[in-house]
Amino acid sequence: MRQSLVVGNWKMHGSTASIESLLNGIKQGIAQVQRAQVGVCPSFVYIQMVAELLKGSVIRWGAQNVSNEDSGAFTGEVAASMLADFSCTYVIIGHSERRHIYGESSALVAQKYAKVQAAGLTPILCVGELLNEREAGQTEQVVAEQLNAVLTTQGIESFKNAVIAYEPVWAIGTGKTATPEQAQEVHAFIRQLLAQQDANIAAQVQILYGGSVKASNAAEIFQKPDVDGGLIGGAALKADEFLAICQAA
Ligand code: PEP
Repeated sequence: MRQSLVVGNWKMHGSTASIESLLNGIKQGIAQVQRAQVGVCPSFVYIQMVAELLKGSVIRWGAQNVSNEDSGAFTGEVAASMLADFSCTYVIIGHSERRHIYGESSALVAQKYAKVQAAGLTPILCVGELLNEREAGQTEQVVAEQLNAVLTTQGIESFKNAVIAYEPVWAIGTGKTATPEQAQEVHAFIRQLLAQQDANIAAQVQILYGGSVKASNAAEIFQKPDVDGGLIGGAALKADEFLAICQAA
């Protein structure tokens, strides 16, 4: 039985004041979240503060990106070992904004995935197609290429400690959500692709959906059998809305 998981991706939002208030709100309501594991991923500079504020809480924290290098002269980069130093649990890898705005290739994403695991952290590997790719009937091909870049280099065993997030790019921050059926179809495809190599690992890996999830649509998406929770952007910035999504998972 897979535990559901809801992770807030705060992107480049927040300030010390707004994060303190958001976390206080989430902490106040977290006891009402019965089933889901909950996590938040602030910008790097707020990780230490979030770690302090969440000490002793069931809420986990993580980062939104990481370097593919261990250490050295890489100005502006942050190593996985540094994230481990601040007790991060998760690191979001290959978010569509990284792939499409910053040109990260699937090969680079696979290197980052390896560094996250080597530091003892859990990658949240994001995959998903652009609108034109969906319209051209290439969704499975695109998602398979993104997954295979990790599978062929890190192996199926690596998915024992990984989370996958299916995030159709056309649904991220656009207000357009995939239908529950569209999400289930791709989630089942992902699980089946992993099952070709190991059915047990495929059955236990958490696959989150991301793309304009809100309190009003979360339950119908999360009820699908291969959807194990969500990676939440905009709606994770309001405590009540985020908690309602967590309760739906
Ligand atoms: C995301 O950034 O991972 C995301 C799903 O964003 P939103 O919920 O705002 O679409």
